[in-house]
Amino acid sequence: EHLTDDYDVLRHEREAHLGPIWHFYAKPLHITRARGAWMYAADGTAYLDVYNNVPQIGHCHPHVAKAIYRQASALNTNTRYMCDVAVEYAARLTADLPDHLDTCIFVNSGSEANDLAMQIAMSLSRQDGGLIIDQAYHGCTELTTALSNESWRHLPAEEHPKRIETLTAPDMYRGPFSRDPQAAAKYAADADRAIAALRERGHRPAAFMVDTALCSSGVLRAPENYFNLVAEKVRATGGFVIADEVQAGCGRMGTFWGFRANGLKDENIDFITMGKPVGNGHPLGVVILSSELMKRFLNGTYPLLFSTFGGNTVACAAGMAVLDVLEREDLIKRGAAIGEYLRQELGRLAEQHPVIGDVRGLGMMTGVELVTDRLTKEPAITLTERLIDDMLARNILIGKGTPNTLKLRPPLIWSRDEVDIFVNAFDDSLRKHQ
Ligand code: PMP
Repeated sequence: EHLTDDYDVLRHEREAHLGPIWHFYAKPLHITRARGAWMYAADGTAYLDVYNNVPQIGHCHPHVAKAIYRQASALNTNTRYMCDVAVEYAARLTADLPDHLDTCIFVNSGSEANDLAMQIAMSLSRQDGGLIIDQAYHGCTELTTALSNESWRHLPAEEHPKRIETLTAPDMYRGPFSRDPQAAAKYAADADRAIAALRERGHRPAAFMVDTALCSSGVLRAPENYFNLVAEKVRATGGFVIADEVQAGCGRMGTFWGFRANGLKDENIDFITMGKPVGNGHPLGVVILSSELMKRFLNGTYPLLFSTFGGNTVACAAGMAVLDVLEREDLIKRGAAIGEYLRQELGRLAEQHPVIGDVRGLGMMTGVELVTDRLTKEPAITLTERLIDDMLARNILIGKGTPNTLKLRPPLIWSRDEVDIFVNAFDDSLRKHQ
């Protein structure tokens, strides 16, 4: 009784002082603690977190928490000093990258990283256009909102940004070339159309920005070589390629770099951007580029590149601790194996539940597309919402990418036990809603 009162008061005060909260549920959760794979509400309820894409190595990992505390107790200020932890972290983060991806610029979020990468691409190419994949999300600044048609696709066409072109998503489940052996080339040909359309409006692409996990497009798996074909077309027009690793990076897809898991070659990348899991919850964003591009940029239009908090000592200590844990606990390999097991179990459920149209993904990134009919592939939108709510009632948090695709992104620390808890509950939930 008392807790319900508290909840209602908190919710009212939240709206009064902070505005509405963005969430999937009719009643937003009041979470007060989290550890490992679990989150705990104020009333003590434990929730299995199958959605969160930030705590990649598990919530509140003690090694990261200690590193943050230790560094915050030693030095925590702006970034106008030489500082060994930032240097060491940048060297470690780029250690397995080729020479043309050797320099880090630290910022505070994924949006900021993408915004800066695009600014540099525009400045150096002297072009101002952008290519993105349909339903992309790359951030919330003015520039990255323009690069996120998930944010503006509902608006009438005349309100869409004129210097951005959207490429047909390389969807191998329901897309126009899903059954075509030439799918990669045919989907990539849309970049020719897009480049021509930009040119007609007086623009050329400064960059192709891409999340190779195609997460907000529905966790799609692009056909082999698709990303390279598009990258080559864009680079041929003088544009750059920005691999947005905010979702795919840091081990999510079975390798540290998501673009490698998804077949975008190192040599086709000019910028890598990172966010979310890179600090496991501590704010940190990264742009990786060549020292050559960095020099050209600083000698050009924008000599005062500085972020007060970007890559401060505490953020770098958090980032370094995340790398420690990934290595020590062998989490990337473990996550890849558990992700396979999860998809195998979901495949087993698909044999009993025809509403499961497709199960796809890599490593610990899985999409489950729900349909009312397997032949027509009619999206099961209402069912998707019901399942998300019903799983909440079973104390399991899941989310969706598209209106009928569940997005499952558990931490890499899962064992088969967590998969079984999730799959059994999902099975029951599907049974209830058939
Ligand atoms: N890129 C991608 C692929 C993302 O998913 C997001 C966040 N959902 C961002 C960029 C923006 O990151 P942030 O919210 O940290 O600014």
